[in-house]
Amino acid sequence: VSRALGAALAVAAVLGAAGAGAIDAGAAAGPAGPARGLRDVAARPADPDTVRLERVWPAMGTLFRAAASATDSAAALAALRAARATVARLDSLLSSYRPDSEVSELGRGAGSGAWVDLSPETVRLLVSSLEWARRTDGAFDPTVGPLVEAWGFRGGPPRIPNPALLDSVRALVDWRAVLVDRDGRSARLGRAGMEIDLGGIGKGYALDRAAETMRAAGASAGMLDLGGNVRVFGRGPGPGGTWPIGIRDPRCPERVLGEVDLDSGSVATSGDYERFFERGGERFSHILDPRTGRPVRGVLQVTVAAPDGLTADVLSTALFVLGPEAGRRLLVREPGVEGAAALWMSGVRREGGAAGRRRGSAGPPSGVLLAGERTERFDLGTRATSAGCYEGDTAKPTEGP
Ligand code: AMP
Ligand code: MG
Repeated sequence: VSRALGAALAVAAVLGAAGAGAIDAGAAAGPAGPARGLRDVAARPADPDTVRLERVWPAMGTLFRAAASATDSAAALAALRAARATVARLDSLLSSYRPDSEVSELGRGAGSGAWVDLSPETVRLLVSSLEWARRTDGAFDPTVGPLVEAWGFRGGPPRIPNPALLDSVRALVDWRAVLVDRDGRSARLGRAGMEIDLGGIGKGYALDRAAETMRAAGASAGMLDLGGNVRVFGRGPGPGGTWPIGIRDPRCPERVLGEVDLDSGSVATSGDYERFFERGGERFSHILDPRTGRPVRGVLQVTVAAPDGLTADVLSTALFVLGPEAGRRLLVREPGVEGAAALWMSGVRREGGAAGRRRGSAGPPSGVLLAGERTERFDLGTRATSAGCYEGDTAKPTEGP
C-alpha cells in the first residue's frame, strides 16, 4: 500500500501544479506520453553497474516497448526476449481479433451449453475481469464484445447502430452470464451471440506477466510500455529511484500535461482518441457504457496509477465509464486499490456558434484528480493551452524531436 500511495501522491504533485495554473510550459516542449518517459529513462542508466537495453516490437495491435537493466547485456537481452515471448503468447490466447485465440473460441461456443477448455492464464484473467465487473456494477464488462462490434470498433466501417439493433446487442452484454467451471479449467457463455472482449484489461495483465518473466530472466529493473499502459519494477533513474512517466495531453499528442513519478506498479491511460469516428460533429469513441450501449461522452482521457498493471488498466477503462463521482465511491470502497490515483480530463461542451458544432472538443479540457482522500479540480491554464490544439489557441502544436 505504501508503495502504491507513493505513486498516488506523485500524481497529486503533478496535478497540484496544474491546479495552480502552473503546468510547466517547458514540459510542453517535450515529446508525448509514456513513450517519452521510456525514451528518457532508457537513455539514463540508474545504476552504473548495470547495463540497460531497450527494444520495441509490434504486439497486441500496438507497440510494445521494453527496457531492462541487468548485470550484463546478455542478461538484459534475455530478459527483453522473455518479455516479448510472454506478451506474444498472451496475445495469442486473449485477442478478440484472432480467430484462433481461446477468447474467440469461447465466443463460438456461446449459447451451446458446451464448456470450452481454457489455459490457466486465460481463466485467471477471465475470473479477474468478472470480479471487476462485479466491483464496478458492470461499468467494466468483459462481455462488451458484441457492442464493440456493432459500433464498428473491431474493424470494418464505423457505424451508429439503429435502436433496434442496439437493444438486441445490449441483451448480449451481461457478465453474469459467463460461467467458469469449479475446477477453473473451462468456461462457457450463456447466450448465443455473446463475445468476450478483454481489450480494457489484457494489456495491463500482459505487462504484469512480462515483468515477472523479466525478473526471472535476471533483470534488476525494467520499464514496459504497451499502448498507453506502463509498468515499472526495480530502481528507476529519477530522484530516489523513481520512474518519471509523462501524461499526454488528450488533444495534443506531442505535448505532456505533467509527469507521474512512479516508484513501482503501473500507470494506464484510456483515451477517446485511440479509436473513434466522427458524425455530425460528434465524436464516438471505443469505450462503451454497457448501461446505454453507447460510447461514453465528454470524457477525453482517464489516467490511473495503481500497484499493478492489471488494476491500472481495468480501472482506466472502468473509471472512464463511471466518471469522477461514482469513481470516487469505487476507489474508496474497494480493497486493494487504496493506493490508486485517477485523473479525468473532460471536454468542455459549448452550445451554439462554431464551437457548438464541435461538441466535446471545443475548449481546453478540465480535470478532476482523485488521490487518496483528496479530490482536486482544475482547468488547464492559458499557458498550457497555447499550442494550437484547442479552439482559441493561437500557436501550432509544439513538435517533438
Ligand atoms: P482501454 O484502452 O484499456 O480503456 O480499453 C478500451 C477497450 O476496452 C475498447 O477498445 C474495448 O475493446 C473494450 N471496452 C470498451 N468498453 C468497455 C467496457 N465498458 N468494459 C470493458 N471493456 C470495454
Ligand atoms: Mg484499460
